[in-house]
Amino acid sequence: MRSVINPKKAEQLVELILWINSRGWSPATSTNYSFKNSENPLSIAISQSGIDKSKFGARHLMLIDIEGKPHPDFSDLKSSAETYLHTVLYQENPEVEVILHTHSVYATILSQKYLAEGRLVLENYEVLKGLGDIKTHEVSVPIPIFQNTQDIAAMSEEFRSLYHKMPDMQGYLIAGHGLYTWGKNFEIAKRHLEVLEFLLECEWRKASMGMK
Ligand SMILES: [Zn+2]
Repeated sequence: MRSVINPKKAEQLVELILWINSRGWSPATSTNYSFKNSENPLSIAISQSGIDKSKFGARHLMLIDIEGKPHPDFSDLKSSAETYLHTVLYQENPEVEVILHTHSVYATILSQKYLAEGRLVLENYEVLKGLGDIKTHEVSVPIPIFQNTQDIAAMSEEFRSLYHKMPDMQGYLIAGHGLYTWGKNFEIAKRHLEVLEFLLECEWRKASMGMK
């Protein structure tokens, strides 16, 4: 018998994944998700690779350690190639409990459009108050953009050094690929995802209207 994944947290993540799928943010079998399953020893529950998210269930989760290695009870299963982008954040910030990674149309296109700048700046939006500890719309929030690569270990180290410089970062984009965001619990992670996806759509619509 396999080690147990926290059933309440698994249920919360499954519900969230199905909602994300219904929003059209997880096409084909793309996107990946994780939560901290236990503290001591630290284990992470992460979505298995290649699962259609419209059919996602708790049976599609597996346990890994903080280095991304499958727990011995799950060594016959494979997590996403992007697993290191999850583990690097759990290593860097012990407060992070949940990580969400989506592939929406707006994240995919806008991350390509702004790749040369290395960031997409969100400012003067009321809904920014839903991100981290922001208290006013009068802020300028840079969302970093990384070049897409299949060398995820290298990208995770790139992320680590940027995160040291930007510890308030609540999300980032990968060009032509998608969005990563996270939170101290499911509610906050979902809120960050909704805020960022909403604002990406705003940016898209403004650009298509010729607004700056
Ligand atoms: Zn991805």
